[in-house]
Amino acid sequence: MAEPVRVTFLGGLGEIGRNCACIEQQGRIIVLDVGIMFPEPDMPGIDLVLPDFSYLRDHVDQVEAVILTHGHEDHTGGLAYLLRELSVDVYGSALTLGLARNRVEEAGVVDRARFIEVKDGDRRTIGPFEVEFIPVTHSVPHAFATAYHTAQGVILHSGDFKIDLTPVDGRLTDLARIGAIATTDGIRLLLADSTNAEEPGFTASESEVGATLRRVFQAHEGHRLIVTCFASHIHRIQQIIEAATSNGRKVATLGRSMAKNVELARRLGLLDVPDDIFVDIEKVDDLPDGRVCVVSTGSQGEPLSALSLMAAGENKRLHLREGDVVVISAHPIPGNEWAVGRVIDGLYRTGAEVVHTGLEPVHVSGHARQGELKILFSVAKPEFFVPVHGEYRHLVNHGQVAHQMGVDRDHVLLCEDGDSIILDDAGMHRGPDVPAGFLYVDGTVGDVGHGVLRDRRLLAEEGVVVVVATVDPHRREVVTAPEIITRGWVHAPEAEELLGEASALVRKVLEEALSEGSTDQEGLRRHARKALGKFVGEKTRRRPMIVPLIVVV
Ligand SMILES: [Zn+2]
Ligand SMILES: [Zn+2]
Repeated sequence: MAEPVRVTFLGGLGEIGRNCACIEQQGRIIVLDVGIMFPEPDMPGIDLVLPDFSYLRDHVDQVEAVILTHGHEDHTGGLAYLLRELSVDVYGSALTLGLARNRVEEAGVVDRARFIEVKDGDRRTIGPFEVEFIPVTHSVPHAFATAYHTAQGVILHSGDFKIDLTPVDGRLTDLARIGAIATTDGIRLLLADSTNAEEPGFTASESEVGATLRRVFQAHEGHRLIVTCFASHIHRIQQIIEAATSNGRKVATLGRSMAKNVELARRLGLLDVPDDIFVDIEKVDDLPDGRVCVVSTGSQGEPLSALSLMAAGENKRLHLREGDVVVISAHPIPGNEWAVGRVIDGLYRTGAEVVHTGLEPVHVSGHARQGELKILFSVAKPEFFVPVHGEYRHLVNHGQVAHQMGVDRDHVLLCEDGDSIILDDAGMHRGPDVPAGFLYVDGTVGDVGHGVLRDRRLLAEEGVVVVVATVDPHRREVVTAPEIITRGWVHAPEAEELLGEASALVRKVLEEALSEGSTDQEGLRRHARKALGKFVGEKTRRRPMIVPLIVVV
């Protein structure tokens, strides 16, 4: 009997973001991606969301390595936080490691990781695993699918991928290698990207965006062009620069991560552009409008990004004016639609023209649609399948695609965060669950916790009412009239009468409690909170947070 293999999903199954899984055999664990998720609108004040690392914390000594499939933050952004818990080898392509290093260096934990660069087609022995790094096309260069040769056969993880037949760098998804593994060893289990599993057909090639950009640039000769995209989308940046060059323009970068990533990509030879094309952002005012192209961050409407500041007329480096053309070469990721909409409104108000995906095909996705997913099934011919990387509906739809492509219904398992599966000689079945709650990060605070978030939502929606009262338990009296302070409940000056009534009520309740012999602070607080909460509810039909402060003298 061969050793069983366990796969545990810590994040990314049920949400887009915080991708993280463990592959485990002979007591050794490979961590597959350590991503973050950007906060949703109902998470006020949260900077980012991490996977729950409890399982890894409990098995620190068993962690063999971290493998990063590509450089996006939903796969690498959590590494800096994981490195607080453990010191580990980290495998990835040169670009992936370069992008991941930024956050790790900022967090001051770079000495806790040993970065090991791998190239297309490399096969490495990592603990008891043989791991192959297979090229795939995606919206960041040098992304990998990974194949794990285990005692229970090959596990193939697609990584984030599409099947782009005309990628900008000519580096194709290596279907031939996947097919070769399928026909020699066979693929026991496939884990594949579900992001676009609801979309029929095929995702368009990245190079089609290049043609659109050239056309847009041509149509706006004589005007300044400002183009925004993800700072890690090196192929998009390459195509923006090519469109600018063919249009006789110079290029300036705007936004810290854009400048940083362009420099990194040029150093690694991934951005193929002439040296003299770049000009400092401070110098663009010296150029005629028709010779200016600015590549900027902020495609997701992030509040303090270069583009948002431009839309608000507050970007010190670049002031938009009538005649400028802003191209948003990105699609909002779920949750950011509203913010991007506000930014587009602001851009129009400056007098600029805006070109976005609703008007021109200036963006394509980096994820496979159903047609490409079907190609992967037809080449990989997996015995078992677990859809990964998606909201629950994406996972369900991907499961249906698997079934259409001939994977037995009982060989497809729908898993969510915290689930695990075990592969053994008998087949694939569910393993024990592990903790997989959201870990909220706010500023430098590690975990904010559910209680804090619940309070913030309540404060945001209902406000707070504080009552301050001083009591003398020996004389059994309320020393001063209770003071009612509120934020977000009623507008204080206009509601003075209401606040007066509330104060009188609290005084009465406290005096009654004192006369009945209740003198401890906690008991008095409870009485005050209950009475005030009831009063507020009856008078205004609101349920703000009630905070009683009882001072005992
Ligand atoms: Zn990605
Ligand atoms: Zn992803």
